[in-house]
Amino acid sequence: MSKEIDNLKTTAGDYKTWALQARKKYIDLRLNNETKIRKLYTRLVKDISLKLKREGTSKIRKRQLEVLVATLKQQQDDLEGQLTMIFEEYIKANAIAATEYAKAIDISAVKKAGTKIELSKITDLHYKANLRAIETCWARSYKELYLSDRIWSKAKHYRVNMSEIIQDAIAEGQDCVKTAMMLEKYVKTGKKTLARQYPNMMKRMGSRVPEDICYEALRLARTEMTAAYGEATIQSAMVSPSCSGVKFILSGSHPHYDICDHICGSDEYGLGIGVYPIDKAPAYPFHPNCLCITLTVNENHADFVDKLKRWGRNPGSEPGLEDWYQNVYKKSSMYIADINKVFK
Ligand SMILES: [Zn+2]
Repeated sequence: MSKEIDNLKTTAGDYKTWALQARKKYIDLRLNNETKIRKLYTRLVKDISLKLKREGTSKIRKRQLEVLVATLKQQQDDLEGQLTMIFEEYIKANAIAATEYAKAIDISAVKKAGTKIELSKITDLHYKANLRAIETCWARSYKELYLSDRIWSKAKHYRVNMSEIIQDAIAEGQDCVKTAMMLEKYVKTGKKTLARQYPNMMKRMGSRVPEDICYEALRLARTEMTAAYGEATIQSAMVSPSCSGVKFILSGSHPHYDICDHICGSDEYGLGIGVYPIDKAPAYPFHPNCLCITLTVNENHADFVDKLKRWGRNPGSEPGLEDWYQNVYKKSSMYIADINKVFK
């Protein structure tokens, strides 16, 4: 068993099954998401290569090039639209995967304690946390670019890269079938094979050809999906009565000391190693491709059930819980009541 999973299980304690489920969900989503993005790029390149193959072994002429340029323009729009849909789907799925953990913990305790707290309300609080996390992901800007802008730029880079490679093939006097095969090989195996088989082209274009045509999009997806998971963890922590902080666990795939070691390894607030107050949690992921784990820190099941029961008998005896009840639980229902008033 890897160290990070051991750490996850220790942190989660009573709730380790749910913590492991959430982690598995995150890893599965990450893989599925990457497969989907790669397939999308492969399909686009394949469409271009089929068009080229139809021209046979003749050299690419100006007219054909114009058609290809127009097709690539269309593909840029198509790619932008498809990537946006994939990002929407997976950001949502990651947010759900993250909020499920604290939600399951709260529901199990509230069920057992049998107070006036309604289960449907707990579900609703976490559902709204989810929506807020998703909204935050799309509303956040990085270097003055929204996520939608960054998706657009990945689609644009695809068009520019493909156009350059095809134009270079034309300048070289390469025939259509050969160019088609070259593009197919490139999307499948990356830049390395191109460098071997087309050394002149590589000499001319060099760093203008990306190692892997979908690398940039994959990197953006990894970062954004992890950010969505992290944002939803924070949002669910904010509405969870059993939650006292957010913990970060160092991923096992960290060969060198970096910012992750620092964040996951320090106890700045005296809450435990890698644990932060909800409003002091560092921005996560800590770097692109970061695989560090985040989860909420929740009171253990028996203690939390007892606390709920004590509060049920005498709200004043548990000021923290009473504060949550007045300011999170009740305010959220007031919000629904307000909406009902508006629509009546
Ligand atoms: Zn990391």
